Amino acid sequence: MAKDEMWHGIPRKDIPWYPTVDVETCIGCTLCYTTCGRGVCEIPDNKAVPVNAMSCMVGCSTCGTVCPVQAITFPERDLIWKLEREHRIFKVVRQEAKDKMTKQDALKSRAAAADDAVAKLTTRARFEVAGEFGEKRFLIQMEDLIKERSYDFVNLRLEVPTVQGATQKTPSFMSFEVTSTEQEDIQSFLPDVRDLIRRNGLTLVSENKL
Ligand code: SF4
Ligand code: SF4
Repeated sequence: MAKDEMWHGIPRKDIPWYPTVDVETCIGCTLCYTTCGRGVCEIPDNKAVPVNAMSCMVGCSTCGTVCPVQAITFPERDLIWKLEREHRIFKVVRQEAKDKMTKQDALKSRAAAADDAVAKLTTRARFEVAGEFGEKRFLIQMEDLIKERSYDFVNLRLEVPTVQGATQKTPSFMSFEVTSTEQEDIQSFLPDVRDLIRRNGLTLVSENKL
């Protein structure tokens, strides 16, 4: 703990709140060591020792509560109440509460802004295209379009009404989805896809962001 740390305006070093361990009673179970998040006790020689007493959270007595043999004790709680009164801490506490609420509000609005930004991202779009695909090598051109780029075409379906019809250039129907392999926004890529469809003389039936 930093030497000049304060507890609601009172120097922490002036507050004698920390665990006292009865080494005769302690059985070295380590529960206080594993329970405390502040590293107050260590267990050298199979006995708990509060090596960082002033890191103990004022008012906490968790390790004492969980100790199976009641080897840990704390001062009477009156000690804290007396300090609160003597140092008139509530003006400080109110300001701290205000600061905490402001910080929480800022965090909440930052999280909401991040959610909005994510919601505005388009990472997947579905295209439906109709036309004659037969000799246009459309699939190869799709492959060329994503070469060395972080995009992909997935769930591709080509519906050919009849095999004989295909040879006679009957229109077919294709659907596919455009995705980003890095979960990034794909909006700047979509004009390239539309252009590819147009260049092949196909009809864009629908385009939907998913
Ligand atoms: S009272 Fe709480 S903060 Fe203090 S040593 Fe025990 S568990 Fe840690
Ligand atoms: S929880 Fe109690 S018995 Fe276990 S190590 Fe800590 S002081 Fe000793």
